[in-house]
Amino acid sequence: MRHAVVSDIHGNLEALSAVLARIAPDDRVLSLGDIVGYGPDPNACVALVRECASIAVLGNHDVGAIDNHALDSFNPAAREAIAWTQGVLSSEHEAWLDGLAYEHREPAFLMVHGAPQNYFEYILDKEAAARAFAATDAPLVFVGHTHIAEYYALRPDGAIAHEHRQHGGTLTLEAGTRYIVNVGSVGQPRDLNPEASFAFYEPDESRITWMRVPYPIARTQDKIAQAELPALLADRLSAGR
Ligand code: ZN
Repeated sequence: MRHAVVSDIHGNLEALSAVLARIAPDDRVLSLGDIVGYGPDPNACVALVRECASIAVLGNHDVGAIDNHALDSFNPAAREAIAWTQGVLSSEHEAWLDGLAYEHREPAFLMVHGAPQNYFEYILDKEAAARAFAATDAPLVFVGHTHIAEYYALRPDGAIAHEHRQHGGTLTLEAGTRYIVNVGSVGQPRDLNPEASFAFYEPDESRITWMRVPYPIARTQDKIAQAELPALLADRLSAGR
């Protein structure tokens, strides 16, 4: 079965809709968290993920929205957007988010928002990747959180390889090598490509395929302005950073 792995939707309905249009009805959808925060459509995005995702784990913005967790670590624009999100998020969607777990493990893979065990750590370099590999025995770890499409590979000799996939592309999974796969962000990419990012995982083919999907960014930016969310949250969408 093909899996479609999405992360960091951040209330961007236009980006999520464009991504879902690329996903087939019989794909298994996995969500790595941060469905809300930053963007103007948290309720619609939670509703769509609830409808289509088989498994969803929590992101730091989801936890921030439901119980003010670690908001002092958020930048001012992110904090303002969380306060706005708390004001509009329906109690039903809040309760659904509150019921999600921080991780999901299957024999073939682990799903976490940021990193194994330290769920909201940012894997930004090989040192952080080495800590993350040491924190789990999963052969394949799906992460988001940094909004950067890339992967780290831990080879049998202990060497760690790292490659970006900010323009899409594939990776063939080799037996004996372990992987941390960052699927990038649907709703707020930060790898200098403004197109929505997600990845397909095909276990039978041992293959990951990163996808980039254009969407009507200006429409999302208009909604951010109408909601009186910080302007920089709109500006960054067209820059992809
Ligand atoms: Zn995020």
